[in-house]
Amino acid sequence: MIAVRLTFLGTGTSQGIPVIACNCAVCRSVDARDKRLRASVLLDVTHDARHVRLLIDAGPDFRQQMLCAQVTHLDGILLTHEHKDHTGGLDDVRALNYTSGRPVDIYAETRVHDALKREYAYAFEENKYPGVPEFNLCTIDQTPFSIHRIGITPVRVWHHTLPVLGFRIGNLAYITDASRIDDDEKKKLRGLAVLVLNVIRRTPHLSHFSLPEALALFNELKPQRLYLSHLSHQLEPHAQLAASLPPNVFPASDGLCVECNEA
Ligand SMILES: [Zn+2]
Ligand SMILES: [Zn+2]
Ligand SMILES: [Zn+2]
Repeated sequence: MIAVRLTFLGTGTSQGIPVIACNCAVCRSVDARDKRLRASVLLDVTHDARHVRLLIDAGPDFRQQMLCAQVTHLDGILLTHEHKDHTGGLDDVRALNYTSGRPVDIYAETRVHDALKREYAYAFEENKYPGVPEFNLCTIDQTPFSIHRIGITPVRVWHHTLPVLGFRIGNLAYITDASRIDDDEKKKLRGLAVLVLNVIRRTPHLSHFSLPEALALFNELKPQRLYLSHLSHQLEPHAQLAASLPPNVFPASDGLCVECNEA
């Protein structure tokens, strides 16, 4: 049996919520669920006696997220794509390098690794400055792969014209920064207990699902539960948004844990 426990470490869009210098109702909300760090999730996966702890995306709030969740060890970081709100915190893996005594395994497509080599050039120099972050680049594509013999299925999604990877583990799938999923890839998203989708606002957007588009996918793919993440301040405050959603559709919030077991 595969058991997956997903913890939302960040559920905000690229700028986070509150947005700097914004005075809107969401940014001024005193509800803790309206404070959203950049999108990232921690996955604790157990299969038979094996257990892995994985992170999906490491944006600019990575340090704070590791501290909040009291993470002392990661078996790998999966990157959906190279945008800064998903990769900007990777310098801080230094702390994990130090405690584990080894590089952190970074699972991503070649294009994303190439972006890391540019953005973190100092970590890839021949004669590295002492104490730079240590990355072990593990290249993936759309082919299923495994970490400690726990199977992971990448799902190709489109972020306007940029190819991005979502990930399915057991009966849970996490998809962020998508505005379109081709029919062939949708087949990988059948029979889910939990689906997480990015939603940026109610009206259409070039590179992210709108709320009506996400609800249409919920009705098409029929997961038992849908969680919305990568939310922006253009949506209502959390409580109001939650009250407007159909049964079994929920806005995620930072710190929320979701469990899913596959027999
Ligand atoms: Zn993003
Ligand atoms: Zn605002
Ligand atoms: Zn993006």
